[in-house]
Amino acid sequence: TRQTETHGFQTEVKQLLHLMIHSLYSNKEIFLRELVSNASDAADKLRFKALSETNLLADDAELYVRVSADKDAGTITISDNGIGMTREDVMANLGTIAKSGTAEFFGQLSGDQAKDSQLIGQFGVGFYSAFIVADSVTVRTRVAGAAKEDGVEWQSRGEGEYDLKAITKERRGTDIILHLRDDAEEFLDESRLRSIINKYSEHLSIPVQMPKAADDSEEADKTESKWEAVNSGKALWTRDKSEISDEEYKDFYKSVAHDFDEPLLWSHNKVEGTSEYTSLLYVPKRAPWDLWNRDSQHGIKLYVKRVFIMDDAEQLMPSYLRFVRGLMDSNDLPLNVSREILQDNKVTRAMRNGSTKKVLSMLSKLAKDDEEKYLEFWKTFGAVLKEGPAEDSANGEKIAGLLRFASTHTDSAEQTVSLDQYLERKPEAQKSIYYIVADSYEAARDNPALEIFRKKGLEVLLLSERIDEWLMSHLTDYKDVEFQSVTRGDLDLGDLEDSADKEQQKATEEAFKEPLERFTKALGDKVKKVRVTHRLTDSPACIITDENDMSTQMAKLMEAAGQ
Ligand code: ADP
Ligand code: MG
Repeated sequence: TRQTETHGFQTEVKQLLHLMIHSLYSNKEIFLRELVSNASDAADKLRFKALSETNLLADDAELYVRVSADKDAGTITISDNGIGMTREDVMANLGTIAKSGTAEFFGQLSGDQAKDSQLIGQFGVGFYSAFIVADSVTVRTRVAGAAKEDGVEWQSRGEGEYDLKAITKERRGTDIILHLRDDAEEFLDESRLRSIINKYSEHLSIPVQMPKAADDSEEADKTESKWEAVNSGKALWTRDKSEISDEEYKDFYKSVAHDFDEPLLWSHNKVEGTSEYTSLLYVPKRAPWDLWNRDSQHGIKLYVKRVFIMDDAEQLMPSYLRFVRGLMDSNDLPLNVSREILQDNKVTRAMRNGSTKKVLSMLSKLAKDDEEKYLEFWKTFGAVLKEGPAEDSANGEKIAGLLRFASTHTDSAEQTVSLDQYLERKPEAQKSIYYIVADSYEAARDNPALEIFRKKGLEVLLLSERIDEWLMSHLTDYKDVEFQSVTRGDLDLGDLEDSADKEQQKATEEAFKEPLERFTKALGDKVKKVRVTHRLTDSPACIITDENDMSTQMAKLMEAAGQ
């Protein structure tokens, strides 16, 4: 029954293959990064599984990845002795795309090649990137623990279908054989391969080996001793900070985050004391395509004593910092830790708290040192950070210091004003930080409630994003100065009013007694109260909410949510 079966690719796979081949041609070399990273993942998975099933490693305990080229055949082979795949694994992993949000991703593609290739990069090109350089790909694999006869071969030209057959495979793990396209023959050059591997694999905790440079005096076949490691096989984060170059940090980011771009900034920390762990945290330049997808699981990779445990350990970073990429390596957690254990765990909490503080302080340092770069960050991730005060009140003040606003001072929709700048500018006698929340920047800017503030030269923050009402309901004060909405309650400008103002106000109130009664009668139940205001200078009237009532913005939000 060793016959070949043909299967069709899932529609999305066909689409992805087509896109990749046509939009990533200027970035061909990433295929090697992806395939070596899969091989390294396969080693990590086996190492982890072997913790409980010790016989899995059997007599083949030295895990490796091997890359070689055959000039005559025009092929590159990437082999590993990792976990391998069963027939079911092969069909699921190399025939479909199982990622959550796949449909959403395809919906975002625009047809603009430059944009799409960025997007594909962020989506994660993975195994299918093999077809950027190969017109035919063969995968031979055997899952750890299975008999030699239970291997599987997968073969495809990337054109809609793939063939499957049962094979006998001597060694556990996976071989991927790429038959290169004519325009990708540059990769047959081993020194070229070596330099790409150097770039992307230096941080892997597994040796990536290539055949030793040809030595005429020895026999031609590639026996064990003919392989040498190209990388150090020492995980980057375990090395000393002073020994790691910026280039290495950047390359590492590209490979953990599968991003084409460099990171905006990073922070590498060895924490000792009551809890011991290493963290390497990056802030990307660009938002991932699924930043607003609630189910997207972009967390932090978790290692325990250098053994990879899981991807997307969302317990290690609060949701308002979900754009942070990187890893944490704990010395305290047990190797058999599960997501459930992570959920409510002292060690996890300490790592999460420590790392949250690290990210916040790395951001405030950036804000101090390089305003332009910080504003770039703010534009990309500001709206996410605004979820912070509600989610993490303990760090509320730190987060508030990172917020940026549009304001009447700059008179621009750009969010550039910090609360510290606001406090510095405000007159001594001003007791509050004034703000307004509206549907749009224009609606905020043109609200009649601002008239008195403009007249008196008092700065008002102009908020108009969806999240802003939520944000302001969790920000009560900053550095002991209260926030005060200019559309709420009977605004008391206190010492900012002079006595001449006060007298005039009294006179006005007298004069309006009669019309006020008529308005009250005419509006009846529609309003709570009609009263004279001194806050308007150009407009005749405006609607406000009472101090303790829901703001009009909040009321709209609740209505939209069906409350
Ligand atoms: P990702 O690595 O993000 O999961 P890929 O497209 O790179 O996506 O790979 C898809 C899946 O195929 C992997 O999750 C893994 O299960 C399987 N796979 C790929 N290469 C190997 C390999 N060398 N050994 C074992 N499994 C592999
Ligand atoms: Mg992969």
